[in-house]
Amino acid sequence: MTVIVDADQDKVEADLLAGLLACPDCKERLSPWGHARHRPLRRGSEEDRIRPRRSICTGCGGARGKTHVLLPDSSLVRRRDHVEVIVSAIQAKAGGESRASIARRLGRHKDTVRGWLRAFARNAEAIRASFTRWASVLDPLCRPIEPASSAFSDALEAIGVAVRAAVLRYGRRPASSFVSKLSQGALLCNTNLLYRAVRLA
Ligand SMILES: [Zn+2]
Repeated sequence: MTVIVDADQDKVEADLLAGLLACPDCKERLSPWGHARHRPLRRGSEEDRIRPRRSICTGCGGARGKTHVLLPDSSLVRRRDHVEVIVSAIQAKAGGESRASIARRLGRHKDTVRGWLRAFARNAEAIRASFTRWASVLDPLCRPIEPASSAFSDALEAIGVAVRAAVLRYGRRPASSFVSKLSQGALLCNTNLLYRAVRLA
């Protein structure tokens, strides 16, 4: 399983050694367990290579333990692009920009952009439900989320409200990183995106 962590590798290392990172399954502390393979992470025209840390939980998975990849909150599971780039494409689509125009403007292949937008549309209801729950957990007094013009826009609206609540509460982090964190990186995954309580600070 993937655990979304801070993009600052030094902080992740310190948290890991201090036992501050919890197993997503059993909540026991995670311990260092090597690294995952290198992978690209594209932002604008730049491409970074990141090498996520791996961790092991001895609380579940029997005597051999169970490993979890610690993915930075600048990314989403199985996507090569920075979460900020992906979110900007989704916002542009909701704002009426065509797929082709988004792809051109962001310098991405049109099939890549189509993949993001289709996955978001497919998960829209689950995203709306999950981020609505997050919004009320982070800010019990937050304004009700109003229905928008489509399921796609409803999901984006719920993300916006939840992220605003998270920024107000925790500050000091790019808004898009909360999209990764609150979805546990699974925003565009073909799985049931369920609300799951995770440590945000
Ligand atoms: Zn565990």
